[in-house]
Amino acid sequence: MKQGGVKPRSARTLAVQAGVGADRAYGAVSAPIYLSAMYHYEKFGKHRGYDYSRAANPTRAALEDVIAKLEQGSRAVAFASGMAAVSAALGLFAPGDRILCSDDLYGGTYRLFEQVLRPLGLVFDYIDMGDCSRIEAAIRPETKALFIETPTNPLMKIADLRGAAAVAKRHGLLTLVDNTFMSPALQRPIPLGADLVIQSTTKFLGGHNDLIGGAVIAADPDLGERLLFIQKAVGAVPGAFDCWLLLRGIKTLHLRVARAQETAGLLAGFLAAHPFVTRVFYPGLEGHPRRALHMAQADGAGSVLSFELRDAAAVPVFLGALRTILLAESLGGVESLITHPASMTHADIPPEEQAAVGLTPALVRLSVGIEDADDLRDDLEQALRRASRGRPKRRSANG
Ligand code: PLP
Repeated sequence: MKQGGVKPRSARTLAVQAGVGADRAYGAVSAPIYLSAMYHYEKFGKHRGYDYSRAANPTRAALEDVIAKLEQGSRAVAFASGMAAVSAALGLFAPGDRILCSDDLYGGTYRLFEQVLRPLGLVFDYIDMGDCSRIEAAIRPETKALFIETPTNPLMKIADLRGAAAVAKRHGLLTLVDNTFMSPALQRPIPLGADLVIQSTTKFLGGHNDLIGGAVIAADPDLGERLLFIQKAVGAVPGAFDCWLLLRGIKTLHLRVARAQETAGLLAGFLAAHPFVTRVFYPGLEGHPRRALHMAQADGAGSVLSFELRDAAAVPVFLGALRTILLAESLGGVESLITHPASMTHADIPPEEQAAVGLTPALVRLSVGIEDADDLRDDLEQALRRASRGRPKRRSANG
């Protein structure tokens, strides 16, 4: 679509030029890092747009500008972590409000909801968001919002973003989407109807496993203003240096995401055919039950996948045998990382609730990085070989 005869620049170009133009004094190509905590006034009652860095900071403003554009929102508000971003978004609600959530949320989000926000009066209901008629049926008079992850972490369940947002609009609810798993390079919930998007910028946007950050992106300018107020009032802001690292990471977002996704597709196929792997959860695989829906709302399957080993007891041997893939709790960075959700990222979800949503102790989650694909496949292959040999032998009935 042309605006005033000029074709808008693509998201790839916007990302590469993140921070360009932020320096109005000298035209620095790399956005300056404004470490100053405060800015002196030109004269009484008049400052130059910034007075105190908790309220606003020029490096942070450059970051918020590019994130808003990539998510196609009206405004982005940056936070010191993904969890600070989730908790700021939940600051829009009041005691007694109910939030309808995806049933296998990231464990840290579940912990915030159940252990911090429920005691303050918010109520959370969890359902499989895959079916819009179930969403509709679960809405109560006090329900004020949907909180969706798609694909979910770690079981890769897919919600219908357009359908869920339409249900929410009919009932006067807000739709919040944690888009961390896909990043704006692959999925943009706002044009599909979401009101707020959350990013743990620690993951794909940062991309180098060297910072913790978060952002909330609002479709509507009024909601953006309310979030800005929460950011200033609560003060969980990222430092200028982390904002600059994020600006730098964003420049290669699309390249990294494309490369990691290509390798993830190869590894998903390899794992699906491996005799010591019973199930692979990846929306790019033909067998994924909601692959078509996912592909209709995202530009690709991403680079995070989960799989189950034939024997849960062999998980420690398998994880211990990996040489290139690192056992660490995160995703979306250049280095490939693997976790055991039941005991690591999702440990705060009670075992019976883990079992109810299908999260088993045999499941591991792999975030594919941008290393050589053959090296990653070889690493998985040798560790699976070790795990399949090293698992405890079953005792016979009399022995
Ligand atoms: N949302 C999702 C989907 C995540 O995976 C994570 C962290 O793993 C978070 C939110 C929280 O982000 P952070 O660790 O930056 O606080």
